[in-house]
Amino acid sequence: MSVKFCTLASSSKGNCHFVSDGDNYLLFDAGLSGVKIQNKLIRIGINPEQLTGIVISHEHNDHIQGAGVLSRRFDIPIYANEGTWDVMKNKVGEIKLENIRSFATEKLFELNNFIVNPFRISHDARDPVGFAIGSNGTNICIVTDLGYVDESIIKHVAGADLVVLESNHDEEMLKVGRYPYSLKRRILSEIGHLSNESAGVAILKMIEKNVKKVTLAHLSEENNFPELAYETVKSVLKRNNVSLGQDVSLDIAYRDKVSKVHEFERKLFGVALA
Ligand SMILES: [Zn+2]
Ligand SMILES: [Zn+2]
Repeated sequence: MSVKFCTLASSSKGNCHFVSDGDNYLLFDAGLSGVKIQNKLIRIGINPEQLTGIVISHEHNDHIQGAGVLSRRFDIPIYANEGTWDVMKNKVGEIKLENIRSFATEKLFELNNFIVNPFRISHDARDPVGFAIGSNGTNICIVTDLGYVDESIIKHVAGADLVVLESNHDEEMLKVGRYPYSLKRRILSEIGHLSNESAGVAILKMIEKNVKKVTLAHLSEENNFPELAYETVKSVLKRNNVSLGQDVSLDIAYRDKVSKVHEFERKLFGVALA
């Protein structure tokens, strides 16, 4: 079976990504209302009752808002590390004991046919992680909500078929914008969010590690817009003689619309099977 991936929504207001190998139907983060997530799943032909798991990156509301509701409504296990559970459990409401599942940061775990690697990222949450999600030879990485991209992250995403990467804000827009000074400082800090420019620089390093497809995600509603994120990243790549479309393909996850459904053929030893 091929692996399908789709971002149901991504912005500073709500994040939710869908992955399936045809047998398992997973959400990575559930930061919209339960009803919104259900409707978006239906839009891509998935019955919400088919969901087999919800995996949470960190406890911020734009990543967990609908997790509790969906878990109760469809009896779905929620996976998070202990630190995230500690601060999330009061926010998601009562969850059946058997649906409270834990993983350890930096330790691979099996989730049905998927192998998930939750790797450490730098963000102002208890124990935030990015994900490398492997199934049938396909590897998809989700890297949002982080202050910087270091060598360990580049190592985790090396060779990925698709990287969903934060391109949160335009630094100038943020600096002159109406956010209070303390919030601006937090966003720009090492435990904040990646700017468009930093996303571009990170993509350069990812290209060197054979990443061919990147989706820009988690755009700020206040301090960014899709064309600006795209053009800024494109100009960073161009300055470094990388040509879009040839060396890497780039798209953008929508804030409130379902994004492109990516489909990856099953691979054995790196070779796609017909
Ligand atoms: Zn977020
Ligand atoms: Zn966050």
